[in-house]
Amino acid sequence: SPSQGYYTRRGGVGESGDFITSPEISQVFGELIGIWYISEWMAVGKPNTFQLVELGPGRGTLTEDILRVFKQLASVLSKCDVSVHLVEVSPKLSEIQAEMLTGGKAQPNPEDKSAYMKGVSKTGIPIFWYRDIQDVPPGYSFYLAHEFFDALPIHKFQRTEKGWREVLVDIDPEVPDQLRFVLSPSRTPATQNFIQPEETREHVEVCPEAGVIVQRLASRIEKDGGAALVADYGHDGTKTDTFRGFRNHKLHDVLSAPGTADLTADVDFSYLRKMAQGRTATLGPIKQREFLKNMGIDLRLQVLLQNSSDTATREQLLHSYDMLMNPEKMGDCFNFFALLPHHRLVHPDKKDKPESKSPLPPVAGFNELLLK
Ligand code: SAH
Repeated sequence: SPSQGYYTRRGGVGESGDFITSPEISQVFGELIGIWYISEWMAVGKPNTFQLVELGPGRGTLTEDILRVFKQLASVLSKCDVSVHLVEVSPKLSEIQAEMLTGGKAQPNPEDKSAYMKGVSKTGIPIFWYRDIQDVPPGYSFYLAHEFFDALPIHKFQRTEKGWREVLVDIDPEVPDQLRFVLSPSRTPATQNFIQPEETREHVEVCPEAGVIVQRLASRIEKDGGAALVADYGHDGTKTDTFRGFRNHKLHDVLSAPGTADLTADVDFSYLRKMAQGRTATLGPIKQREFLKNMGIDLRLQVLLQNSSDTATREQLLHSYDMLMNPEKMGDCFNFFALLPHHRLVHPDKKDKPESKSPLPPVAGFNELLLK
């Protein structure tokens, strides 16, 4: 809802909000993602321009950490024209992002119908804000969606003796100001359109909006090149009832006080893979702790520990490493998933001289990082 929705009213990412995310826990998370993009950019022969497109940037911390890596590796990127494109619906969060990334140097952009705001990062990179991925100009792009897809609305379905029924929200006739879940008395358009014929689960959550966005990402990558990195909690088509709410870092009844709590459902990566419709190759989902380990988090931690002399900083570094990597915390339930052009993984068919092909560099994160 543009007026009463959670992200337009509250949008509480961070320690003082309703939920905390990996980039808010440790700078290392964003740094390693920044290295991932540079490694992909190098693997395809260092194109002379790319767009970094982030969906749902929250407070802007992840982009800030990525841009710091781009600055540190300025000599590597020196001939590359980089721009940042943020897709954000929340007016409040876009203000916070502008403050974080540009230090207040962003202005509304009323003459441009697509980007509603523009600015320049503290490191000199142009940044644009949009409400929809379709407004982002075409071109070679690296996409990023961290804890974005889980925030999009879902449909819930229950298998019954009479076939699939949709779980709907109703006004409770017995308790004033109370909502309740009901099953649709018959099939609904959503039961007819969104359940895969081969579905075996008894209860399913489907996020059609995520499907549409993945289709768009896959078409754009197929046409203009680039890659998309999706990181979120989720499963590969196995889980059933995951819809839940968070308020002040505690579980919150999804039906009480709508618009005041973060509502979320696990991302079904098998559905995202299906929605790429073969336009791109996909990698993952792979567990966060494996992805970060492959990206060299252990080495990065050692360097940061060596460079910090005070005990409090060292403890903070170890604590945040544990939060990101511990299988009981974020290490196992968060996953990484990527969309890449087919030619990034398999040589396009060249009939003559197949032996002359050099092997394609492995994709970092999903394999060990090999940066030369
Ligand atoms: N990526 C950030 C924040 C995740 S919270 C982090 O990891 O910290 C989800 C983000 O998606 C918020 O910025 C929210 O405002 C944005 N968002 C939610 N629904 C959206 C939609 N339909 N289109 C674009 N952005 C959306």
